[in-house]
Amino acid sequence: MTELVLGGRSSDEQFGFVNPPVVHGSTVLWSTVADFKAARGRYTYGRRGTPTSEALSDALKLLEGGQHVALAPSGVSAVSLALMTALKSGDHLLMVDTVYEPTRRFCDGMLRRMGVETSYYDASVGAHVSDLMRPNTKAVFVESPGSLTFEVQDVPAIAGAAHARGAAVIMDNTWATPLFFKAHDHGVDLAVSAGTKYLGGHADLMMGWVSANAAHAAALRTTHGALGLCCGPDDMFLALRGLRTLGVRLAHHQAA
Ligand SMILES: *Cc1c(COP(=O)(O)O)cnc(C)c1O
Repeated sequence: MTELVLGGRSSDEQFGFVNPPVVHGSTVLWSTVADFKAARGRYTYGRRGTPTSEALSDALKLLEGGQHVALAPSGVSAVSLALMTALKSGDHLLMVDTVYEPTRRFCDGMLRRMGVETSYYDASVGAHVSDLMRPNTKAVFVESPGSLTFEVQDVPAIAGAAHARGAAVIMDNTWATPLFFKAHDHGVDLAVSAGTKYLGGHADLMMGWVSANAAHAAALRTTHGALGLCCGPDDMFLALRGLRTLGVRLAHHQAA
């Protein structure tokens, strides 16, 4: 639980204040070209990262235990970001039948237009998912518990079967959250969460994120940059504030 409270904080860089600053910014100014070059990789433009987005993604990275976290303006945009990170024209996607409805719409609409074929499988498939895989199956998507019937999937068995055939495993982990289910520890390559839900916790923000393991971190960075996704600073502030109490809220939620 300590990481929920301390993640993303760096009081030395925050003039001693407990919480990171909420930076509203696009253009970043430098006095000289040499200063700009020396700062390369830190802050160059608002869309590419600010002290606020960095604090939130650092904290979520700690919680996920992955290699890289990319922030998105909603859970649905995080789902599409993960799918576009793993798939290209000509690929086949295996999608769990209990998936959140807008994810299904993205697959049957956008992905189909982009030349990716989706087929749906039963949530209880387990390791038998290998029977459904085709030579061009490049990703298996799990959502566990699933919307809205809450089937719990055998994620390690599915991940083992998918990896044996060279497919990536994407998970919508919104319901369990990375607090209750460490997706990367169970073989998930790209873990998606709608921050709108438990992270925000107060029905006052829209956000999502994707966490990648080492094998998929570079592809996630590139796709996120190409799509130009970023979040509003006040929403990121609210998400950070929500993170601090995520543990106590979910413990109560689970007990109630
Ligand atoms: C709500 C939800 C999403 C989408 O999140 P938005 O922030 O509303 O776009 C995705 N997956 C699951 C499982 C959800 O419950």
